[in-house]
Amino acid sequence: MFDRSLWAERYTTVPSWPCPRCAIGQLQLVEGSLVNEETGWSSTAHSHEAWEPDWIEKRYSAHLRCSDAQCGERAVVVGTVKCDLDYGYDYDGQTTMEVVEIFYPEFIHPSPSLIALVEETPTDVFEEIQRASSLIWIDTSSSANKLRLAAERVLTALKVNRTKIQKSKRRPLMLNERIGLLGPQYAEIADLLHSIRFLGNHGSHESAVSVDRSDLLNAFEIMEHVISIAFSTKAKRVKAAAKDIKRRKGKPPVRNKKSTL
Ligand SMILES: [Zn+2]
Repeated sequence: MFDRSLWAERYTTVPSWPCPRCAIGQLQLVEGSLVNEETGWSSTAHSHEAWEPDWIEKRYSAHLRCSDAQCGERAVVVGTVKCDLDYGYDYDGQTTMEVVEIFYPEFIHPSPSLIALVEETPTDVFEEIQRASSLIWIDTSSSANKLRLAAERVLTALKVNRTKIQKSKRRPLMLNERIGLLGPQYAEIADLLHSIRFLGNHGSHESAVSVDRSDLLNAFEIMEHVISIAFSTKAKRVKAAAKDIKRRKGKPPVRNKKSTL
């Protein structure tokens, strides 16, 4: 199950990301390892006449440990802390104000993968998805671009050509053209890969607007599904079994007597 709450841009507490090594355990904050210090310029700004607590900016780092004792993976997270003002009312109707620290992770090493990949995932596809996962914290457009590269690797693994001869010269095929070369048995995959292509295109071009985080999370989920139907032995077996039953319209298969004993 793809848990979107783990991949938000900001948090009030460090989330329990899946372990990047075993994918069974969860990364948990090592007690006492969180260092959260205000920057010098932020401290100096307190003396400004217009200063408010939401001007505060801090840097943080923390160590994380996998909850699975047999794995024991360690990871580090670094980022920025900003402060929000949370207004409310007390029992007497007086306005209350609380300063809430908001954590913005910018780097996690090793980086947790956003999606669960089947064992049969080709290594180079896996590596691009790892890169896309690590970039989601710092730049959604770069992350979308890496997912687009993962789509190219998926096509290569499905034996789709990377180049073609045109006017006696060999030239690289565009991703759009490569997706168009997928056979009819891959129609669903083609459709899904086009959406990742569009998002990756947006991420590649110089644009003042970054790729939308929600769109990017959808693209990761789409890629998870593409990889499952393209490479999972189980998914292929289930598809073949369904096709076989459909072909027989539910009638029992014809077997020779020996095989049914
Ligand atoms: Zn682990």
